[in-house]
Amino acid sequence: MNVGGERSFTGIVRDITDRKAAEDALENARSEAEQANIVKSEFLASMSHEIRTPMNAILGMADLLWETDLDHEQKDYISTFRRAGSSLLSLINDILDVSKIEAGQMVLENIPFELHEVVEKTCEIMAIRAQEKGLELTHQIKSNVPSTLLGDGDRLSQILINLIGNAIKFTEKGEVGVTVSLNKDITPKFGFIELIFDVSDTGIGISEKNIQKVFNKFSQEDTSTTRKYGGSGLGLTISKRLCELMDGRIWLESTKGAGSTISFSGKFQIYRNALPESPSVIGKHVKGLNMLIIDDNKTSRLILKDIFTSWNATSTEVSSGKEGLDLLRKANEHPFDIVFIDKLMPEMDGFEVIKQIKEHDIAASSKLVLLTSKTNSNDSTQIKELNIAGHIAKPIKMAVLLETINAITGHGEEIKLEPEKRSKKLHLIHVP
Ligand code: ADP
Repeated sequence: MNVGGERSFTGIVRDITDRKAAEDALENARSEAEQANIVKSEFLASMSHEIRTPMNAILGMADLLWETDLDHEQKDYISTFRRAGSSLLSLINDILDVSKIEAGQMVLENIPFELHEVVEKTCEIMAIRAQEKGLELTHQIKSNVPSTLLGDGDRLSQILINLIGNAIKFTEKGEVGVTVSLNKDITPKFGFIELIFDVSDTGIGISEKNIQKVFNKFSQEDTSTTRKYGGSGLGLTISKRLCELMDGRIWLESTKGAGSTISFSGKFQIYRNALPESPSVIGKHVKGLNMLIIDDNKTSRLILKDIFTSWNATSTEVSSGKEGLDLLRKANEHPFDIVFIDKLMPEMDGFEVIKQIKEHDIAASSKLVLLTSKTNSNDSTQIKELNIAGHIAKPIKMAVLLETINAITGHGEEIKLEPEKRSKKLHLIHVP
């Protein structure tokens, strides 16, 4: 009994010692693997940098060559290597980012930036790609979101570019929308707030079983994705890690065939208590005006309506030129002050609506503003010929909308501010 007991006690001690040794070995192996991974990432980070420099020279020279006298065949060759070069460069940039993040070398800036400027500029750049595919790109920043923040505006823009780029790539018809709101469930601490960004599309969607997979490195929904759409499968991985560095997260809701919404959160500090100026103060000259919105895109109509409501103006919205004309004919007793007309509409486009209004002398007292998502030189001539009061490019920038209305209503002095003061002032404008 005794001997057995002693043996079993020794056995237990040996067991514990063996397990401890095994755990130590495992821990050593794990930390060696982690170290090796960091070394690999550091190597990749410096290599990517070394590759990027000559790549930029190759692309720069290709651009210069493009400007010289070339025949058709030579232009064809150069355009192929310019295209291939820029996809290679964007792949290298992605790899550089991933390896920087994995080597723990990615450090975010913490400097003041204007949220409106970042979101609007990013959407303006991406709108070109959206318009090429005939998609509408809209953005909306809720009115309680402070605009002057501390954080990394460039990296925020990088995440948005990734997500909007994907939304456009995987959508053939419909629209892409960006919304920014304040997470009210988080009580601001030390001036930190949490913002939630939603990027929605009406594209191909992702099946439920692949939702987690697409956030993994080099992962795409399935093998046909690369063949059909290209891409490296790194964009979402980078976006996820950048969100984590902003103390946020990223998530996705999607239905196969019915579009996706990719959302992310991030914490930012309000810069020197720069709380949003009240929309009613910003839009004081718009107060009481009666607007008509003629646009076939529902999201665009709703965004405009929300802005006008926040500025204490009233608005009516219709989805076609025909409905707009009918309403204008009947509105003689309570004419609209300003009519916003989208250029690109099916059946009757914006120019046609304006021509009809002028020809039949409908709504003589109303001012007309054309909303355009794609302008060409012919448009400028028509805008001049038709003597339209204003012209705003889509996606609509809040500051431009306010400037246009103020100019039309004779309060244009606000736009005569020096550019620096003007941008400071106008960036504090918010959409509900
Ligand atoms: P890439 O776009 O370069 O392939 P990402 O990491 O950005 O890499 O995206 C990974 C994959 O997730 C895509 O290949 C695609 O299968 C899927 N995906 C991402 N965004 C969308 C979207 N908006 N709609 C449908 N699929 C998407």
